[in-house]
Amino acid sequence: MTSGYKKAFWVNPRPIAQNPEKHVREIVEMGADEIFLLSIDGEGALYPAKFSVVAKGVAERSLIGDIIREAKRSGLKVHAWVVALNKPNDELAAKRKDWFVVSREGKSCVDNPPYVESYKWLCPSNDEVKSYFTGTIQELMETYDLDGVHLDYIRLPDIFLPEALRERYGLEREIDVYREKYDFCYCEKCRNGFKKEFGIDPFEIRFGSRKWYEWHAWRAERITEIVKNFHRVVKKYDNTIETSAAVFATPGYAYRIVFQKWCEWPLDSFEPMIYHEYYGKNIRWIGEAVMEGVSCGKMIVAGIQFEFLRSKRDVEEAVNVALERGSNGVCFFLYPLQHPELKDAVKEAFSRF
Ligand SMILES: [Zn+2]
Repeated sequence: MTSGYKKAFWVNPRPIAQNPEKHVREIVEMGADEIFLLSIDGEGALYPAKFSVVAKGVAERSLIGDIIREAKRSGLKVHAWVVALNKPNDELAAKRKDWFVVSREGKSCVDNPPYVESYKWLCPSNDEVKSYFTGTIQELMETYDLDGVHLDYIRLPDIFLPEALRERYGLEREIDVYREKYDFCYCEKCRNGFKKEFGIDPFEIRFGSRKWYEWHAWRAERITEIVKNFHRVVKKYDNTIETSAAVFATPGYAYRIVFQKWCEWPLDSFEPMIYHEYYGKNIRWIGEAVMEGVSCGKMIVAGIQFEFLRSKRDVEEAVNVALERGSNGVCFFLYPLQHPELKDAVKEAFSRF
């Protein structure tokens, strides 16, 4: 059945690169018609790129070339999934430290990554970062026959974490605890850029003061700028290539904790990561989150964490609540499935829309 709804998976190429035929067949058999294939991760491109940095072990041979060919041959639409600003690549960090974000403590994330070792992020205010990013996307589109380009980690580091993740980092679950070490970016470019417009150095702004919210908004605007630029570059290259992004679950959360003002982004569709348990919510909340996204006039395809679905009933309920509230389909995270025994449940759910 072709309904215009998206039936999709985010796909990790590493475990399937050896045997793309088998896995693409399995994806098709479940009834999916699109995949978001990880093509550039935090380390770099998963193929021998020239312009952008390359992940370890793929300098010689592409991890995604055969999968893309096989998927296209089987009639799947292929979106290249791109990790945008989170770049824990050692070579880049050593050579271009000034491209990376700086915390309120004045420390570079290269030396002091927040939360986890891999939290090394490029600064969206930096013009060199902007051209590096668009050059990377340009090269990707010229290398592969793609139906879409999909952004992930298109944000600053989390100034606050979703509730259920806080205890893992020694934070209180019930309140937003502000820490200077989680507050980015205070690099020269960001400070000077804000000061030029508002006449005050961000270091002088107190957390929670009125000016603070302008500073917050200014940072969100830098992300929006990168996204608008990305959309322009893609459409200029080929107007039929779709643009999309894996954004935080709701516009409210996304703006408040990771500076994504995604209701203002010009993309063709949005795959919000409505991973309910990270927010301490149940499956029904997936519908509420969808509704919040739909209400800002965007095309929403609910991103559902498959790991949090533990039975056939869970799969059914998650898909139903998403579609009832206006989702334009469903995208499951992640293939290969964490619960392969629920393959038939996915097939049945996909067959109903
Ligand atoms: Zn900066």
